[in-house]
Amino acid sequence: MLGCTKLMCSLFIFSKNRKGVLNMQREHKIYNPEMECIDREELRKLQGDRLKKVVKHTYDHVALYRERMDKKGVKPEDIRSLDDLKLLPFTEKTDLRDQFPFGLFAVPKSEIVRIQGSSGTTGKPIVSGYTQNDLDVWTEMMARTLTAAGGGKDDIVQVCYGYGLFTGGLGAHQGAGKIGAMVVPMSSGNTQRQIMMMQELGSTMLCCTPSYATYLGETIRDMGIPPEKIKLRAGCFGAEPWTEEMRQHIEELLHIDACDIYGLTEIAGPGVSYECLAKNGMHISEDHVIAEIIDPVTEKQLPYGTPGELVFTTNTKEGMPIIRYRTHDICTLTDEKCACGRTLARMSRITGRTDDMIVIRGVNVFPSQIESVLVGTSGVAPHYVLVVDRVNSSDTLEVKVELTEEMFSDTVSHIEELKDAISGQIKSVVGIQAKVSLVPPKSIPRSEGKAKRVIDNRKL
Ligand code: ADP
Ligand code: ZN
Repeated sequence: MLGCTKLMCSLFIFSKNRKGVLNMQREHKIYNPEMECIDREELRKLQGDRLKKVVKHTYDHVALYRERMDKKGVKPEDIRSLDDLKLLPFTEKTDLRDQFPFGLFAVPKSEIVRIQGSSGTTGKPIVSGYTQNDLDVWTEMMARTLTAAGGGKDDIVQVCYGYGLFTGGLGAHQGAGKIGAMVVPMSSGNTQRQIMMMQELGSTMLCCTPSYATYLGETIRDMGIPPEKIKLRAGCFGAEPWTEEMRQHIEELLHIDACDIYGLTEIAGPGVSYECLAKNGMHISEDHVIAEIIDPVTEKQLPYGTPGELVFTTNTKEGMPIIRYRTHDICTLTDEKCACGRTLARMSRITGRTDDMIVIRGVNVFPSQIESVLVGTSGVAPHYVLVVDRVNSSDTLEVKVELTEEMFSDTVSHIEELKDAISGQIKSVVGIQAKVSLVPPKSIPRSEGKAKRVIDNRKL
């Protein structure tokens, strides 16, 4: 274990400032160095020990897990170390729906102090129940997240994730409180008011979806607010997929460090994994969750570095522990050393979901691939929707993307050139021909929460 004490651990890194000049500019702050910098062998042992306990707890208290394990012929005693994880059955979102509301709770209802629910972007809502300890763990995960993005007690954290059943708002709120920051619980919506409060209070950190961060940034720019009026220096953006190109766009618009943050209601909420200022993948709070990558078809574990479906097992959760939860999110894992000093493994950006992947004429297409083309093209704004249809039994893809104000007032011939360029880029990146429709600025509906990027009109 590294010899750092709580909240004291810091490492300086070299990075480029906005003008590209190499300088030593920032410190890596670590909330819980004992866990975040733990020796990986020690971590494996800790994870194994905790796994044994959580499996026994769920087997004894949750009928569904007991039935599934009995059917597979696995008893809690068969789980002796982390290597035995693969013996356990998977859990799916449908299980949470079927067991709604309390079927998966592993403690009496009187021990549950909070209910949170999924935003329901992928169907009917599901709920999760937290004991006080579960809430404390989740809060620490978010405290780690905000600290990793450079946050501390001097910060003013504007939370514009929705408050309510959705975990985003309260999760960020609790974490910001834990690091002693000043929390501004704005919740989502009312962009003008968000911007007014941001200026008046001098908010230094922002928590919202990356699509809303983009919208806020563009609105601030379009309102002509001078950059010195905005004191933001970092943001934790997640709850939906985004790209490296989108990061750059947000960083330039808002003059901040934009860090990715990942989580899901089933496991805890935001903060399950989080980027440090090295911005090279999200550290997973592995003392509380075990991450695996599996082949979504064969369901076999895949090695670090190979893309596949992310699967989580909660390691310390009491209220609603989850064993081998199939997230359907696609990414890769790495345990290579990070510049920040944390040893916790990192997951890459989510490059798609097994259920969000669109198959067009047999080709697998992820919205993120198209986004990377659009964000990298000047003349268009990163606001788009993909419309999939079937005409004469052949799939069609239309990419509707907004023109920038400057391009909108440009000549028709330039616009035609731009269309061809985008269509050519999409062909080379994704391998299929798409119809590109350039639409007027601000004509695609903005989202204050998760953006809806795909409209599939095929009746599949
Ligand atoms: P749902 O959206 O299914 O209603 P949640 O609100 O709990 O449920 O969201 C969890 C899902 O949101 C994750 O499984 C993942 O698909 C997506 N998500 C969360 N954070 C990120 C992120 N940083 N990058 C990409 N996707 C994310
Ligand atoms: Zn790091």
